[in-house]
Amino acid sequence: MAKSVDDLDSSAGTGTPDTADLVAREEQVFGENPLDVRESDHYTHEYVGSFVEKWDELIDWKKRYESEGSFFIDQLKARGVRSVLDVATGTGFHSVRLLEEGFDAVSADGSPQMLAKAFSNGLTYGGHILRVVHADWRWLNRDVHGEYDAIICLGNSFTHLFSERDRRKALAEFYAMLKHDGVLIIDQRNYDSILDDGFSSKHTYYYAGEDVSAEPDYIDEGLARFKYTFPDKSEFFLNMYPLRKNYVRRLMREVGFQRIDTYGDFQETYHDAEPDFFIHVAEKK
Ligand code: SAM
Repeated sequence: MAKSVDDLDSSAGTGTPDTADLVAREEQVFGENPLDVRESDHYTHEYVGSFVEKWDELIDWKKRYESEGSFFIDQLKARGVRSVLDVATGTGFHSVRLLEEGFDAVSADGSPQMLAKAFSNGLTYGGHILRVVHADWRWLNRDVHGEYDAIICLGNSFTHLFSERDRRKALAEFYAMLKHDGVLIIDQRNYDSILDDGFSSKHTYYYAGEDVSAEPDYIDEGLARFKYTFPDKSEFFLNMYPLRKNYVRRLMREVGFQRIDTYGDFQETYHDAEPDFFIHVAEKK
């Protein structure tokens, strides 16, 4: 069910998406030299209407539900978390999951199109009214109000920041919005293995959806360009920064997080090259 801008609840903050912004932009824009596109601001040109519409095919909610199990919910409950800010809402998978589990959730994202889709998904999956806020992580405190027990930034989202300055700024904004004993959970692809094992040995990386492939199209130390191919042969690309695991851990520590546990594909013990995803759980106290 598609909802209009007026249906987006701005009560949690001041950043209701602009009507003009919500006009679906159908084409991804990478310009003449896609490999030169290495900018933190570019994500809004990548998550265009047609790609957003397909995103749920890519992530397949049911399969994702099964493969994640209760990992994130357990992490939050173990720390007595009540309020959660989902800063990379996307189409709303985790926000809906949190509401289902009784958490007090606010759903932020820098893409108005993603927020519109998330809002309609909330209604479709359980009749939830998502509290959506249009906010870029780098200016989070300006647009989102309140303090939270936890912040989640999931689905390999942090990778969209291309400069260290932006990463530090975003982490500092997350840190500031957490209560004194808050927890930040960020996940990322295992770029170390993609960078170190070389391009030729790559297997196809499947996110979750069947028949939808997500594979590296180009990799260097400053760019991971992934191609997403759908059963109807449509193709989309995302230009991302290949975050190394220990680099992200170091940044989190330097911003002030005291304890950081990194899981590999939801497991506590793993060999570094094996997992497709790392999950960092960072505690403030
Ligand atoms: N968490 C969702 C999931 O797992 O399905 C969405 C993941 S999607 C890969 C990344 C999301 O991060 C997009 O919705 C995008 O708009 C958002 N994003 C990227 N950079 C951002 C930024 N600087 N500020 C706010 N949102 C951002």
